[in-house]
Amino acid sequence: MRFVILGGPGAGKGTQASKLCKHFKIPLICIGDILREAIASKTDFGQQAQGYVDTGELVPDLTMIEFIRDRLQQPNTRNGWLLDGYPRTAFQAEELDFLLDKLDQKLDWAIFLKVPEEVLMQRCEAREDCRADDRPAIVKRRIDLFNERTIPLLEYYEYRQRKRLITVHGEQTPEEIFQEILTQINSR
Ligand code: ADP
Repeated sequence: MRFVILGGPGAGKGTQASKLCKHFKIPLICIGDILREAIASKTDFGQQAQGYVDTGELVPDLTMIEFIRDRLQQPNTRNGWLLDGYPRTAFQAEELDFLLDKLDQKLDWAIFLKVPEEVLMQRCEAREDCRADDRPAIVKRRIDLFNERTIPLLEYYEYRQRKRLITVHGEQTPEEIFQEILTQINSR
């Protein structure tokens, strides 16, 4: 299985991503975590990304695309994966398709966790493992960028990709959301 998971900051992507990876026995590629680790260990990639991540801006597409190209060609991603945090822009989505074509792989599902903006704000503020970019002004910027740059991908996955989109309401318990995702996968 190959998944991408989409949702605003605080939508619950991380929780569902780890449940899905365990269930389908596939590796999780969590871009946010990878970026934060790269920043902490001051790699070239981390240094390129730091200013953007700190302020809630998107890391430039070309940097991200280069990273993904590398990552998806590593041996443990041959039989499936789940991407959390990629793609976030139309350009990133198109590059992913292009790359998958080349690798002779296909995306199975794009999962969208739908959560109202006010709830996203509240959740980020209340997070126990609150990050530097969970400050309200930065969360607001991340939500705005999500609406501007990532929401258009829903249409991309629904229409251009043979109805690969699964939309689930994100205001249920994590287990209910997970079961609904599985039900939708099994019924199509
Ligand atoms: P969230 O999804 O909750 O906003 P993430 O941990 O996924 O948080 O991402 C944190 C930050 O990392 C983003 O605000 C952005 O700066 C950067 N980032 C993550 N994924 C991408 C991406 N695909 N393209 C550009 N920047 C990204």
